[in-house]
Order: sequence, then C-alpha cells, then structure tokens
Amino acid sequence: MKNSIISQRIQNIAESATLEMTRRSRELKARGLDIINLSIGEPDFNTPDPVKDAAKDAINNNITHYPPVAGFKILQEAISEKLKRDNNLEYPPEQIVISNGAKQSLANIFLSILDPGDEVIIAAPYWVSYADIIKLAGGKVVALPTDIENHFKLRPEKLAAAINKKTKAFLFNSPSNPTGMVYTVAEMADLAEVLKKYPDLLVVSDEIYEHIIYNGKHVSLASFPEIKDQTVVVNGVSKCYAMTGWRIGYMAGPLFLAKACTKLQGQYTSGPGTISQMAALKAIQNPPQDSEYIHVMVSAFKNRRDLLVEKIKDIPGIKTYVPEGAFYLFPDVSSYFGKSDGETTIHNATDFCLYLLDKANVALVTGDAFGDPRCVRISYATSIDLLEEAMKRIKTALKNLI
Ligand code: PMP
Ligand code: GLU
Repeated sequence: MKNSIISQRIQNIAESATLEMTRRSRELKARGLDIINLSIGEPDFNTPDPVKDAAKDAINNNITHYPPVAGFKILQEAISEKLKRDNNLEYPPEQIVISNGAKQSLANIFLSILDPGDEVIIAAPYWVSYADIIKLAGGKVVALPTDIENHFKLRPEKLAAAINKKTKAFLFNSPSNPTGMVYTVAEMADLAEVLKKYPDLLVVSDEIYEHIIYNGKHVSLASFPEIKDQTVVVNGVSKCYAMTGWRIGYMAGPLFLAKACTKLQGQYTSGPGTISQMAALKAIQNPPQDSEYIHVMVSAFKNRRDLLVEKIKDIPGIKTYVPEGAFYLFPDVSSYFGKSDGETTIHNATDFCLYLLDKANVALVTGDAFGDPRCVRISYATSIDLLEEAMKRIKTALKNLI
C-alpha cells in the first residue's frame, strides 16, 4: 500500500517543528553526540511531590474507570474556583471542558467553530501548532506580522484592519510562545476596544504561561467585561506546574462552545486520563502565591533569562530584547543570512539552526515555524551551566561565518 492513502487534510499540515527538532536532538544524543537541546518548551523541573502523591492515591483508590467526557466535576469546580481566585473570572463548572492538554482544547475549539474558508487572525510570530490546528479544522490563518522593535506586540489598528465578514476568531497568547512578551493591561484594553465591536467574533485567549511572568501579575483578556461573553480562555497545568507529560488542559468559555467541544471530545478521545485529572486537581487547588514551587521555578527562569540576554548581547549580529515571561527568547539572526564558513552558506533561519546543530551541537527552532523567518527560538528552560555552555558554543561557531 502507498502513502497516497494519507488524506489531503493530513498532507496539508506540517510536523510540529518544536517536536521535530526535539526528536532530532534525541536521535543525535542516542548516537553519542553531546547535544544541548534548547528547542523544547518544557520546564526542566519535575512535577511537585504532592501532585505525584495525588496520582498515586488515585490509583490506589481505583479512580481508574472512564471519566465524564468533559472531565471530573470536582476538577471542573476547582478550575472554576481557580479562575475566580487568580483571574477574577466567573465560569460555572459546566462551561469548562478538560482535555488532553491545552493543545486538544485548542483543537476542540477550532474544529467546533470553523467551516471551510473561515478566517482566524493571529499575531505573528505565533506558537507553531496554532497554524496547523486551524488548517486541520479547515480554516484560513490570517497572520499579522509584528516586529522586534515593537516587542512583537499587535497594534489595535492592525487588528481592526484585518477583520472582515469571514473572520471567525482572534487567537491571542500572552505571555507569548515564542517571544516571551507580555501585553500590558492598556495594550489589552485597546485590543478589547476593537473586538467588542464584533460580538460574533470568538476571542481565544491562550494563557498557558500565566504564572511565568517576571514583573507584575497576569491579567486575562477575558477579564475585560466588554468582551467576556465572546471570549474563551485556554489554560492547563503543563507549564506552570511542570506537568507536560500528564496531558491536562482546559477551556472555559460560552456554554454553547463547551457543549460543542464536549460532543466532539466524546466521539474521539473521551475524557482525559483519570489519574492525570486527580493530579491536576491537586496542582490547581493550591493558590499560586502560596506555592513555593512556582516561586522557585519562576525565579530560576528569571536568572536564566538574565544570563541568556547578557550572553546573546555579546554575540555580534544578533538583535535581541528582554522577554518578560514564559521561557523563550526569539532573537533576530537575519544579519547572518548570506554568510558562509566556506563549506555551508546560511540562507535563512532554518539553515542557521541546522548549522548550529551541526557545528555547535546546540538545537534551536527556526523562526519559519512560528511565522517569522528572520528569527530563531531559544528555550531557556534548562540549567544555567548548559545555557552558558550553549552560548559559548554558538558564539564560537558563528565566528566562522563571514
Ligand atoms: N499553547 C502554547 C502557547 C504552548 O506553548 C503550549 C505548549 N506546547 C500549548 C498551548 C499546549 O500545551 P499542552 O498541550 O501541553 O497543555
Ligand atoms: N509548547 C512546547 C513548545 O513550543 C512544547 C512542544 C509542542 O507541543 O510544541 O516547544
């Protein structure tokens, strides 16, 4: 049988570039190469012990049968409490759907709302999977470029100019993957001012990095009352509780959307794993300000960010800035395009990443995958020692490009 059996739907989407680069570095490591992987966006911390204990209790107490499709009521209630406690948002439990990671929540939402040709506006650079999830659902991505000089922030007039009859949704992400930028309250208010004029346009606010902010506190786009009814919040436990492998995310939004996502989920995955749900419950019940764990993790990320920014500034030809959240830096490396070490010529950001993988044994992700071909993404969710070593190697390898 030939691979032509694979549907056009799947042929039209790309492999996740973040996961692909991680797979490549794992393969090279397995072959004995000393690779430093700065391509994956996941905390290098382990899941907190009380969370692990809650999972063990779930097994011992035989919480191992099929869960309700939208997740356990007790977890929906805890998320409802959390949204009130941390974000000043009112979402009753029935408006919350728990899924296998925020990735599935996003897929549920776009599969629930998009018909062929419908448009979704996103600011570029954007997280890799946004574009392919939207395409998979039959939608058209309308990516609005931003630039490093303006800290990759989308201006309201640009958003207003892009909205038309086909616009079904606006997808927003702060703190941002891949840039680490955090929108101010005033900047969000300006966007809300535009969005409120289109009450049928769904606003999808991905807040998965909400606790990883270095100054101040996260504000949810849904907390602007003028757009609350048209907004769906997407969040999860992967990043802020170091629980990437447990696969628990959720959406909180209009009831009709929660019902559609539940119907869809009921036909293709059912509710997420019971043991993971009980672990997530433990994580979410603890207010973040009381969580020693989050403080330790965020202050470690801050130190790493400071080190990375300092080291990058020391490398000629890289344009950078200071990210305010998440654990990514997205510098502009385009001044290296056209340069060569005599053997390899760097034509674009993908060549730049492959060159560093080959010559410095450091894995980064090309900006092309995030909708900005001038940049590369560096994930600094790794130890200070490894970061220092990686930057040393990168600097040495880039010196050979002229
Ligand atoms: N949104 C963003 C911006 C992300 O970086 C990630 C991490 N891959 C996700 C959503 C999905 O996270 P998960 O599926 O692990 O909950
Ligand atoms: N969000 C992470 C990243 O951007 C995890 C990998 C993925 O799912 O893309 O690297």
